[in-house]
Amino acid sequence: MAPQEASKTQPFPWHLGAFDAHCHPTDTAPSLDKIAGMKTRALTIMATRGQDQRLVADFADKLAVTDDAIPALESTRGSEKSRGYIIPAFGWHPWFSHQIFVDEQHRTPSKVDHYRLAISPSPVNDDFIASLPDPRPLSDLLGQTRTYLERYPRAIVGEIGLDRAFRIPGIEMADNGYEKDPALTPGGREGRRLSTYRVDMRHQQRILKAQLNLAGEMQRAVSVHGVAAHGLLFETLEETWRGHERRTPSKRERKRRASVDATHQKGENFEAFEQSSDLGDAKPFPPRICLHSYSGPADTLRQYLQPSVPAIIFFSFSRLVNFSSTSTKAVAAIQALPDDRILAESDLHAAGDKMDDLLEDIVRKICQIKGWTLEEGVKQLRLNWLHYIFGKNLEKKDGGG
Ligand SMILES: [Zn+2]
Repeated sequence: MAPQEASKTQPFPWHLGAFDAHCHPTDTAPSLDKIAGMKTRALTIMATRGQDQRLVADFADKLAVTDDAIPALESTRGSEKSRGYIIPAFGWHPWFSHQIFVDEQHRTPSKVDHYRLAISPSPVNDDFIASLPDPRPLSDLLGQTRTYLERYPRAIVGEIGLDRAFRIPGIEMADNGYEKDPALTPGGREGRRLSTYRVDMRHQQRILKAQLNLAGEMQRAVSVHGVAAHGLLFETLEETWRGHERRTPSKRERKRRASVDATHQKGENFEAFEQSSDLGDAKPFPPRICLHSYSGPADTLRQYLQPSVPAIIFFSFSRLVNFSSTSTKAVAAIQALPDDRILAESDLHAAGDKMDDLLEDIVRKICQIKGWTLEEGVKQLRLNWLHYIFGKNLEKKDGGG
């Protein structure tokens, strides 16, 4: 339990099973070949845009965790390599949300009309609009995601979200000697200078909400990106579960439950888990939500942890985003969070040693902040990941395994 237990001098207990809750190996497609040799037990791999949905499916075809492999994941002894390494996620990232148009009335706007509405400020530069891809109907995106979710019953939805800070790459190249890497999947920034244009927040919200509804309908977890829009993100998620809030038990009910739970440490949570792991029951909101590379304030954290919230919210942290410069917010968040709501991620664009190293770093950091030994931490984070992906709270069954 001593904090020095988690220090660099202790060997990292990879054999207990470490899981990456959010990463992008399809950004570097040749890195697929490295996954089977990684120390990380399984990767949750995100799709983001037109160019990578098919790639995520290709990776899943080769390396997805199959149902017969799940018992091995649930056991700390499950280090045999006969079991798949990937949980695929399908979805459309807010950075690319302007490329989607909402076709509610089955009306197809012209390219120029669509981008003038979806982008803020409304672009006057026709060359800029011409440089953007032809927009794609939302119904088409949702149809494709649904097909993938049906084909991969363990797949989740991601990466989706809101980003108020992001600016769309422009036409000109940034003056920084960028060299095109042929291994990189197209559709990203690719060395371009950022324009002054952002994706309209209401537009982002509509694309996000449609994907949340689909995840709820199919009872899949989601991986959510939120930057500089923490309040709005909570509001958007809240709208999807409006009318489905969990009733707060009365004082008397709580008292009664407390005495029943005296033998059970986290009784109230258990009941919540029981209800929401009710698979096959379509709802407008996802059963489990991961706020990836969480950078919000403590107030927002409290909102998500209110007992009335009917989804189970996990918070994931990365070395790259949360501990790059100022980390005080992430430290405060990790300190404030219940042990069973924390996940670890690399958020990296290529599989391999660097991804393992980043995951190890963040797990060590979380353990240090939480005062966990590395063994305790890796075990807890493994249970959390299994709960997030499969909706099973194993802690309840076997007290921590
Ligand atoms: Zn990401």
